[in-house]
Amino acid sequence: MSGGWAAKELSEQGLKTLVLERGRDVKHIKDYPTAFKNPWDFKHRGQIPRAEKEANPIVSRCYAFSEATEHFFVKDNVQPYIQEKPFDWIRGYHVGGKSLLWARQVQRWSKFEFEQPLRDNYAVDWPIRYDDLADWYSHVEKFVGISGNKDGVETIPDGEFLPPWEINVVEKHIQKSIKDNYKDRFPIIGRCAHLTEPKEIHLEQGRGKCQARTLCYRGCPFGGYFSANASTIPWAEKTGNMTLRTNAIVHSIIYDEQQKKATGVRVIDRFTKETTEYFAKVIFLNASTINSNLILLNSKSNKFPNGLGNDNGLLGKYISFHIYRGRISATYDGFEDSYYYGRRPTQILMPNFRNVRKQDMAFKGGYMIHYSALRKSWNREVEGDQIGIEFKDKISKPGQWDISMMAQIEKIPEKEDHVRLSEDQTDEWGIPQVIASVGYNENDDLLLQDFHEQGSEMLKKAGCKNIKTIDSQQAPGLDIHEVGGVRMGVDPKTSLLNKWNQLHACKNVFVTDGACMTSTGTQNPSLTFMAITARAASFAVKEIKKGNL
Ligand SMILES: Cc1cc2nc3c(=O)[nH]c(=O)nc-3n(C[C@H](O)[C@H](O)[C@H](O)COP(=O)(O)OP(=O)(O)OC[C@H]3O[C@@H](n4cnc5c(N)ncnc54)[C@H](O)[C@@H]3O)c2cc1C
Repeated sequence: MSGGWAAKELSEQGLKTLVLERGRDVKHIKDYPTAFKNPWDFKHRGQIPRAEKEANPIVSRCYAFSEATEHFFVKDNVQPYIQEKPFDWIRGYHVGGKSLLWARQVQRWSKFEFEQPLRDNYAVDWPIRYDDLADWYSHVEKFVGISGNKDGVETIPDGEFLPPWEINVVEKHIQKSIKDNYKDRFPIIGRCAHLTEPKEIHLEQGRGKCQARTLCYRGCPFGGYFSANASTIPWAEKTGNMTLRTNAIVHSIIYDEQQKKATGVRVIDRFTKETTEYFAKVIFLNASTINSNLILLNSKSNKFPNGLGNDNGLLGKYISFHIYRGRISATYDGFEDSYYYGRRPTQILMPNFRNVRKQDMAFKGGYMIHYSALRKSWNREVEGDQIGIEFKDKISKPGQWDISMMAQIEKIPEKEDHVRLSEDQTDEWGIPQVIASVGYNENDDLLLQDFHEQGSEMLKKAGCKNIKTIDSQQAPGLDIHEVGGVRMGVDPKTSLLNKWNQLHACKNVFVTDGACMTSTGTQNPSLTFMAITARAASFAVKEIKKGNL
């Protein structure tokens, strides 16, 4: 996701760019083998067989892992890691990374998220503010193609939008009830990286309109949603400046003590296990949060015995994520004569309303809510005979309205939430295994409790029935929004990266994936990773041209 943006921006702006990818190539369209399959075309009708689940307990917990998508997920034995505390690390190792697998929900951060750590005294102050990123959000949004509505809500800034998806009748009813009952809550249609009406720039990428199939996790042959495979990587390739080397596992970054800068990277071939070194003026690290931490921690030299740039010992610390434990289910009686079009790839979202202008709750941080209302489908339980005309008639009609609500809860970064390298266990390529030590605390429980109370109250006021709160108790990681470890900041004593994503202590190394995040906000993260990457790449090119790098 972020590496594709670095490749696009650097090669488009004239730099000879080498992209190193640990996995195989995945060519847009050609390498989406299941994109047009029907359930009956799969040996197990799309399900993962029990033996495979038992062999892969971690990846099997990801909702998108199925017989139709498993070829894009990393199996548990490929790169083992040590869970000092439970942590489900979900990965996609191939060209495109997790941009093939994501759920494509995108929102800009507002000014509040950038200001909150300083104001409420957590993490460390962000060295940038919303205004530093606003134009880069626009730059990315125009190219990616984002559907959404200009809602004019301060906590969720508007962007460059293609037409929005529709809000159905029950969702509208709940939306109205929330707006009528609460001054500070604004449910809006979700914003997602789908082409509802492609523009010239998308057609130029060879992409077309989203067909509302929601088979996205298989790769979209229409290019209806944004992935690096459909978009940034082929775009970078077309410049003639990009070279892609696949099956190349970056082991570490080479630091030259005389020149006082990084000169290249050590790479292990996935198959032959041979080591090769590649040299460059600047290095962008976009291996995804945990792997970028790993690579830096593994880049040891006399100057940096604890990992590249790790003068203050904070590398790998303050790992954060989104808490995805909370859900609420409910039903709604009424509107039985209404239905909706297609399979919409988004939901209703409600930006954070807690601790927005000042910290006025007993907890720090906040949460974003997503909800949707769908009619029960043909596969619901129906009373009476399970065969015959009457049964067929019953299941041919849509069932009751079901409401599903979930929270994307901010995890306040804490020093003890960290990753480090094992001293005695390595993977198949001799690279140290990661030890993940990331968990929940009391603040997280208070946020979850608040969501359960507030969400239930909002649904009750809207006339919903059978309201049930759920705490899945799932481990961190399964949200797949892990960030931090190489955080940005003003002061080299308390952060690893400056405001341009350069390592304070080694300016020609840029870290622009989730590892750079100082805090996690309540929004889906990837749009911010992409905007930060485009901004840093443009800066790097200017610095090279000025002779500073
Ligand atoms: C099911 C699912 C749903 C999601 N939904 C959303 C959503 O709705 N909205 C949102 O914003 N985000 C979502 N995400 C998260 C999103 O996919 C990630 O935030 C994003 O892909 C991270 O981008 P990245 O560039 O850091 O890493 P990735 O996209 O994971 O790319 C990292 C790349 O680096 C390669 N790599 C790793 N290590 C090495 C190495 N040592 N050497 C060479 N190459 C290496 C990998 O193979 C991979 O290609 C979702 C993810 C999943 C799986």
